[in-house]
Amino acid sequence: MVVQAVSSLVFCKLSSTLIPISQSATPYLPQSLTITTSPALSALQAAFPAEQIALPGSERFNARIKSYLSLLQSEITPSTIFLPKNKEEVTSFLKILQEHRETFTIRGGGQQPLPGCSNIKGSITLNLINITGVDLNDKNNIMSIGPGKRWGTIYKKLHKKGLSVTGARSGNNSIRGLALSGSLSFFSSRKGLVYENMENTDLFKSLRGSSNNFSIITRFNMRTFKQGPFWGGTIFYFPDQFSAQIDALVDELRRPDTSEEAHIMISLFFAAQIDQVLGLNQVYYTQEVQTPPDIQPFVAIQPQMDQLNSIRMVTVKAAAEEQAAVAMTGVQCAYINTIVKADSATLKATAKVFSEALKKVKGFEGVIFSFILQPYPLSLLKKTSRFGGNIMNLNSKNGPLISILILIY
Ligand SMILES: Cc1cc2nc3c(=O)[nH]c(=O)nc-3n(C[C@H](O)[C@H](O)[C@H](O)COP(=O)(O)OP(=O)(O)OC[C@H]3O[C@@H](n4cnc5c(N)ncnc54)[C@H](O)[C@@H]3O)c2cc1C
Repeated sequence: MVVQAVSSLVFCKLSSTLIPISQSATPYLPQSLTITTSPALSALQAAFPAEQIALPGSERFNARIKSYLSLLQSEITPSTIFLPKNKEEVTSFLKILQEHRETFTIRGGGQQPLPGCSNIKGSITLNLINITGVDLNDKNNIMSIGPGKRWGTIYKKLHKKGLSVTGARSGNNSIRGLALSGSLSFFSSRKGLVYENMENTDLFKSLRGSSNNFSIITRFNMRTFKQGPFWGGTIFYFPDQFSAQIDALVDELRRPDTSEEAHIMISLFFAAQIDQVLGLNQVYYTQEVQTPPDIQPFVAIQPQMDQLNSIRMVTVKAAAEEQAAVAMTGVQCAYINTIVKADSATLKATAKVFSEALKKVKGFEGVIFSFILQPYPLSLLKKTSRFGGNIMNLNSKNGPLISILILIY
C-alpha cells in the first residue's frame, strides 16, 4: 500500500526532569509552562540541529501547537516537537527513543480533534510537516507525496497535466491521517477509498484503516487518473425538506444502476450566528456533464437559498478550495461518527434525535452543530472488498452504507 513506512513501537517512558520557564504569551499554552528534559531529548539534541527540535516557549513550538484543528489538542503540551526532514531521520529518531525507552506520538495534519491522538503530554510529538516533495513519474503516472504536503498543492500540480488523484475533499487537509483512515474522496464511488489508490495495496492489510498503530508513513505513492472539470457545489435549504432528502439519498444508493460518478453529502446544521437550522447538500458528479439527472434531486430542491447555490462546473482544485473555505484551526471542536445501513427509517430517527437535542444548545454563543450523512455506495464497497477489505470491516455484504457524522465547533 505504501512504499516507505518506518515501523514504530510504543515505548515506556523513563524518568524525566521538569524545569519551569516563564509564562508564554500564547493563549494555547498552559499558565505554568515546563520544559521536560530527559535522556531521550538530550540524545536528540546531540544528534540533530536545534531548528529540528522545538522546545516549549519557542516560536517554532508555539506555531506548531497552534496549528491543530482542535484547541483541545493545542492545550496538550509535549516536552518537545521533533521535525524530521526525511525517512532516515525518522529511523534515527526511533532508534534514539527505543534506546532511551521514551514515548512519542505521530502528528500528521493535526485535523483529527480527539485529544491526544496526535499530540502527547510531557513526551515527544513527531511532526512530519517537513517531509515534503510531490513528484509525478511521467512514465507510470504515479505520484509520490511526502506526508507534509496538503491536497491543494497536489491537485494544483496534477491539474496542469489533466490528472487527478483520490484525495481529500478539502484542499487544506494533509495526506497523512486521511490516507490511513476511512478516507472518502470526491472520486470514491468510482475509485474506492483513498488508500485503495496507493501503490502496493496488498502490502499491509493491517494499515488499511489502522491509523498510527503499525507504522509511520514517510511517503505515499498514489495512482493518478485523467480528470477534467466536473459538476457540483453546495445548496442550502430549509430543514423541513431534510426528510425528503434522506429518502432521495437512500433511493439513489439502492438503485441497481446507481451512478459511480455521484458524490453526495447531505447535512442538517445549526449555526448560533444565524440562530437557524438549515439543510446543506454538497453534491458532485465527477464528469464534465451539466445538470446530470443522478444528482438533480439534491440540487433542484425548492425552496432553497438561491444566492448561496454554488453548483457549477468546477476543477478538483476549485471544489477542494470551496470545501477548505469552511475549515478552521484552533477551535473547540469534536466529532464522532458511526456507520449504518442506508435505511430511511434509521436515518430519519437519528436526524430527529439530533434536532431534538439542538433545542438544548440554542442560546450557546458561536456554536455550529452539524449532522452529516456521507454515503458508502456499493460501487465503493465492492472495490474495498476486491482490494482485500480493511480493518473497519467495511465491505459490500451489508451495503450500501451511510456514515452519520456529528460535528461540533
Ligand atoms: C475540515 C475537514 C475535512 C475533512 N475532509 C475529509 C475528507 O474529505 N475525507 C475524509 O475521509 N476525511 C476527511 N476528514 C477527516 C480527516 O481525514 C481525518 O480526521 C484524518 O485522520 C486527519 O488526518 P491528519 O493527518 O490531519 O490528522 P492528525 O490529527 O495529525 O492525525 C490523525 C491520526 O493519524 C496518525 N498519523 C498521521 N500521520 C501519520 C503518518 N504519516 N504515519 C502514521 N500515522 C499517522 C496520527 O498519529 C493520528 O492518530 C476531514 C476532517 C476535517 C477537519
